[in-house]
Amino acid sequence: MTWMVTGGAGYIGSHVLRAFVTAGVPAVAVDDLSTGRAHFVPDGVPLVRGTILDADLLARTIDEHDIVGVVHTAGFKYAGVSVDRPLHTYEQNIEGTRRLLAVMSEHGVDKMVFSSSAAVYGTPDADLVTEATSKNPASPYGESKLVAEWLLAALGRASDLRHTSLRYFNVVGSAYDDVYDASPHNLVPLVLKALTDGQTPRIFGSDYNTPDGTCVRDYIHVGDLAAAHVAAAESLAAGRELQPAYNLGSGEGMSVAQIMQSIRRVSGVDFEPEVHDRRPGDPDRIVASGDTAARDLGWTMSYTVEEMMASAWRAWQAALAATP
Ligand code: UDP
Repeated sequence: MTWMVTGGAGYIGSHVLRAFVTAGVPAVAVDDLSTGRAHFVPDGVPLVRGTILDADLLARTIDEHDIVGVVHTAGFKYAGVSVDRPLHTYEQNIEGTRRLLAVMSEHGVDKMVFSSSAAVYGTPDADLVTEATSKNPASPYGESKLVAEWLLAALGRASDLRHTSLRYFNVVGSAYDDVYDASPHNLVPLVLKALTDGQTPRIFGSDYNTPDGTCVRDYIHVGDLAAAHVAAAESLAAGRELQPAYNLGSGEGMSVAQIMQSIRRVSGVDFEPEVHDRRPGDPDRIVASGDTAARDLGWTMSYTVEEMMASAWRAWQAALAATP
């Protein structure tokens, strides 16, 4: 009954692994350590080092560990960079998923929980995004996640594969002080890095059509996100019907300026962000309903935004302290 977590040494994958450990479900990490960190993998969980493009490695791992299902978090996740690296993005996210599904299919592994993204919606024309909102991805990254969802759906129709895709909104925070988000492209790690480097955090645009002029997003805590993966895996294992996709959103929007204020409060660092030009491609507002996930996966917001920022700050400080 062991689950394989691809990308298990990443910020999200390692949170999923720890949630499996807490739930008493055996799990194995597969990670090529291109962005992951071996020390994020919890004690007692084997780490198989290699890429999801390596079908032999996947096959061996499935055999050796008696894998019954896969949580597939491995992938290239930088939407902005994907515009300049479309082939790399498609190879990792589409071809990687295709190969993984092929090996699973050959070995009778019939359950997958897939890491999808709000990026499948692009700039939605909806106050509250639901799973039915139209999909108009605006980057190769968003396209690759949508195509991967289609791969799962197509194989689900053609075989016994049972699957669901979890569309993440803005994932932040840390449920463990020794795991942190090291993304060089997202708001919270960029602000924390600026503060510890003695630089001034930047707001990309303050002339958006929002109450304070800065972009509004839907922030969710990575610990809640990880719990939803385990709930989805356990539901698939128990034979319960799941939807093909769920939004993991909070239903609430927070602006970039509000996030900055929250970080100022939890860090105790007094700073005034600099307002810069808009970052290309950023929509004014994206907020999603998580109601369907709440109904089927027990999805819940157990952390306030302030707690999300405080936990991110704590883990960031712990990482700095651990760096020689
Ligand atoms: N952002 C910002 N300053 C930064 C990094 C990001 O103002 O240093 C803004 C960005 O323009 C967007 C929001 O923060 O409006 C969230 O960006 P992020 O890249 O974290 O996630 P996205 O919503 O783009 O996936």
